[in-house]
Amino acid sequence: MRQTNLLVTTLREAPAEAETRSHQLLLRAGYIRQVAAGVYTYLPLGRRVLRRIEQIVRQEMESAGAQEVLMPSMQPTELWRESERYEVYGKELMKLRDRHDREFVLGPTHEEVVTALMRGEISSYRRLPVTVYQIQTKFRDERRPRSGLLRGREFLMKDAYSFDTDWEGLDLAYKVMYSAYERIFDRCGLKYRAVQANAGAIGGKGQNHEFMALSEIGEDTIAVCSLCGYAANLEQAEVHRGDCCPQCGEGELDFHQGIEVGHVFKLGTVYSEKLGAGYLDRGGRTRPMVMGCYGIGISRLLAAVAEQHNDDQGLIWPQSLAPYMVHILLMSVKDTAQRELAEAMYARLTALGIDTLLDDRDERPGVKFKDAGLLGIPVVLVVGKLAAEQRIEYMDRRTGNKEVIDIGEALLRVSGLKSAPDTAFA
Ligand SMILES: [Zn+2]
Repeated sequence: MRQTNLLVTTLREAPAEAETRSHQLLLRAGYIRQVAAGVYTYLPLGRRVLRRIEQIVRQEMESAGAQEVLMPSMQPTELWRESERYEVYGKELMKLRDRHDREFVLGPTHEEVVTALMRGEISSYRRLPVTVYQIQTKFRDERRPRSGLLRGREFLMKDAYSFDTDWEGLDLAYKVMYSAYERIFDRCGLKYRAVQANAGAIGGKGQNHEFMALSEIGEDTIAVCSLCGYAANLEQAEVHRGDCCPQCGEGELDFHQGIEVGHVFKLGTVYSEKLGAGYLDRGGRTRPMVMGCYGIGISRLLAAVAEQHNDDQGLIWPQSLAPYMVHILLMSVKDTAQRELAEAMYARLTALGIDTLLDDRDERPGVKFKDAGLLGIPVVLVVGKLAAEQRIEYMDRRTGNKEVIDIGEALLRVSGLKSAPDTAFA
């Protein structure tokens, strides 16, 4: 992509309402724009990062045996009355009426719709187990939307639902999903902890874990044992700093702030009983399906990664999520040697399948460096005065290291990065 064609406008200052680092930087770097409180447009750079996350999530869901579906945002209110959650959710539910005065909610989650789907599709134990997932827009009527993508009213989520004949089956489905979550967050370069948690409005009596991105601005407090690895949401652990660990009895508890980016629940039969999703077992008796549900806030994850990875210049994307892998800065568009070398590098990298952004704007070097720092693309190649000698400056956005090397070496390094796993952020 040529920067002269890219729809991106960087801002010198962050709008006053942006309080968190991720919100400020995503606005300043031209990744997102606010449309209404808690409602955002993703510009091309933001959309590309979102797609990278979706791709990782899809790959890991498919390897975990989950099948992709797409359920509607509009859900009839009757389903929410059947599950007895219409009142529980209260004002957080986004509601609407159609022209015939029929009531709908804009789904914050899909237990009702998916359970109603399965009661129609599955009648025998022979068709179980099955796990489905979707990546879809969700709605929550937040009283005070804030922190940009971290707490919006419209947001993107991956939600998965497992259906089994018994609790042993659910235990296995839960374990498989839990490991898939670890791989997803590792691949996204997130620093996180899986903690024991409360079920909240989702319900269910079974075990559940939250995946917390570690961050000072997180609204949840988590307690972590120094010895045995015990970790719990403070709501669940209800303990104090310096207390003894409730699991091993010896370690001291340390406290961290976290942003919830994922949640896995063993629901059991709460929804299948209320909505009548049963199957016939081997003996011909009707039993309720045993369910699990598994969510990841895709847009929140994007913001959590941005919150963890930035410096005073701007964003610093892990390779796995970066909108482009290489950013070529052409210092002077009027210099023929520089322009030819930058164009040649751009053509070579693009032919190699490496996503490259070429800053071919007629701007001062200072402007280009500033924007590159803000955008946060992992490798910056500066084509300047040494172009006639076929040499360029190779900059690592994360470490800030700069080196003058010849173009053959630069091509080798970049191709090497493409195939190597991104361990820098682990
Ligand atoms: Zn312990």
